Amino acid sequence: MCGIVGYVGKRQAAPILLQGLHRLEYRGYDSAGIAVGSKGKLRIAKRKGRVRELDALQPQKFKGTFGIAHTRWASHGEPSDRNAHPHCDATGRYAVVHNGIVENAAALRAQLTERGCIFASDTDSEVFAHLIAFADDGSPLESVVASALRRIVGAYGIAVIDAQRPDTLVVARNGSPLVLGIGDGEMFFASDPAALVRHTTSVLHLDDGEIASVHADGYETRTLDGAATNKPASTLPWKDEAFDKGAFAHYMRKEIAEQPEAVRRALSGRLDRRFGTTHLGGIQLAARDLLDVRRVKILGCGAAYLAGAIGAHLIETLARLPADAEPASEFRYRNAVIERDTLYIAVSQSGETFDTLAAVQEIKRKGGRVLGVVNVVGSTIARECGQGIYLHAGPEVSVVSTKTFTCSAVALALLAIHLGRLRDLSVARGARLIEALQALPEHIAAILDREPEIARLAEYMMDAEHAFYVGRGAGYAVAMEGALKLKEVSYLHAEAYPASELKHGPLALISPQTPTVVVLPRDDLFAKNISTVEEVKARGGPVIAITHPGEASTAFDRSFEIPALEPELDPLLLNIPLQLLAYHVALQRGTNIDQPRNLAKALTVE
Ligand code: GLU
Repeated sequence: MCGIVGYVGKRQAAPILLQGLHRLEYRGYDSAGIAVGSKGKLRIAKRKGRVRELDALQPQKFKGTFGIAHTRWASHGEPSDRNAHPHCDATGRYAVVHNGIVENAAALRAQLTERGCIFASDTDSEVFAHLIAFADDGSPLESVVASALRRIVGAYGIAVIDAQRPDTLVVARNGSPLVLGIGDGEMFFASDPAALVRHTTSVLHLDDGEIASVHADGYETRTLDGAATNKPASTLPWKDEAFDKGAFAHYMRKEIAEQPEAVRRALSGRLDRRFGTTHLGGIQLAARDLLDVRRVKILGCGAAYLAGAIGAHLIETLARLPADAEPASEFRYRNAVIERDTLYIAVSQSGETFDTLAAVQEIKRKGGRVLGVVNVVGSTIARECGQGIYLHAGPEVSVVSTKTFTCSAVALALLAIHLGRLRDLSVARGARLIEALQALPEHIAAILDREPEIARLAEYMMDAEHAFYVGRGAGYAVAMEGALKLKEVSYLHAEAYPASELKHGPLALISPQTPTVVVLPRDDLFAKNISTVEEVKARGGPVIAITHPGEASTAFDRSFEIPALEPELDPLLLNIPLQLLAYHVALQRGTNIDQPRNLAKALTVE
């Protein structure tokens, strides 16, 4: 979603800023803008719509060696040219870009209006520019901004430039990410390292409550009260090429194809065949502490929550610990009881999901222990948890998650085996699971090679307006993720149900126009699932089964067979054809696959 980019150095800022905005497009936004400073003046262009529509205003021609740029995801005021960022004070001297929400914006607007301010937009963000203009008493820009920020209640990542102070840009963070990129005689910053990696991999993540002065030769970070925070820089693990689509038509398809490699990386160095267990170096809890765990609670939003649902099944089955998954967005508001002997796990691809972060903070505040299962190294949730499992899936650009869903489930499988081997799971059983995990990348690759078969299944679903996805146990979590993927990218209405629940109501909706996708591993519940299939068939509903090889069933209209793994690990593979199914239905329906309507990649606001 919303994005910030900034530059100060010797080069022309505008092309660098615009390139950065293009790099952030994947996150979803509704308008874009840029401000570049030169010779005591700022030049500003902003526009509703895509960055290429902003390009049409030719901001790339703005001369100047410092500037800021923004992609907006509207919270206050409709998406429009006037509400797009940057926002300025009355004189046009200061420009501000803001990610987040100012909660006391209405009160501040009223006070500022009383002092004679005329607002040029409906946004909450514009208050920053006016507050800064009022606060400027000639002190360094950083102290001016800090004193303005003391009036703000709410979440922000902001960047400020002053036409009269060309040497220094100021950025600050409270609840919305900001990363500095350290160059040679130049500095960059952005809300997402994706916009920096082309220029530098040496970065510094700001913490909440921190403010930084950024100039061509470096930066200083402080708390809002002015205490220096001297933090070491870190190195981004990504290369710029990771953000290119390569030969693929869509990032989603590319990221589906990357799964064998991503899973290999997620497993790398973590499997121990000899003891039939896993090593998770990012978890600082000793075996003794983990033995005291009596319950596991997994939190996440969207696909991360559903990967958590698979993880909870695995943990309950393999470690015999009561485990469940819950949407972090619900958990954070229900005054949850935090138990001393519960292990909490927060799953988030970006590590910036606001609801999940809030849940982590609530748990920590109440004295609970939280592990992060996160893809982006150094992200807020990873740092807030302080321990956990990195996915190492590589950057995920498509708004819908595919490889990070799979890798999150794999990471939780590693944890389940680890917890299991501290308890009742035998060494032989552990070793078999490790072997099955090792074989996972090849199996995924073999399924991906059969893409044309799945494209034909998609044709079969093309004319439907509604679809059901059903399964049992962890298969139900797979069904939920399959339905979510289909909804997100194809806009076809899909509903997931536990197969056992279909007869308790939704069966009324089954018709020849409503296909049902059944997640059907040949496990203990196979026969029960077949009964559900028969019930659907009896009402004329078409059935597509994702299943294992075995005796052919006449009940399916279409089926796709995948190899059977160790049964607990089947969900990791059953999900793969459903990703391709969603992709091909979307392809045939002609939707915007990488940036589905109304969706954003990392929800960093409530
Ligand atoms: N609340 C601000 C607005 O609506 C910023 C939104 C964003 O994070 O992009 O303009």
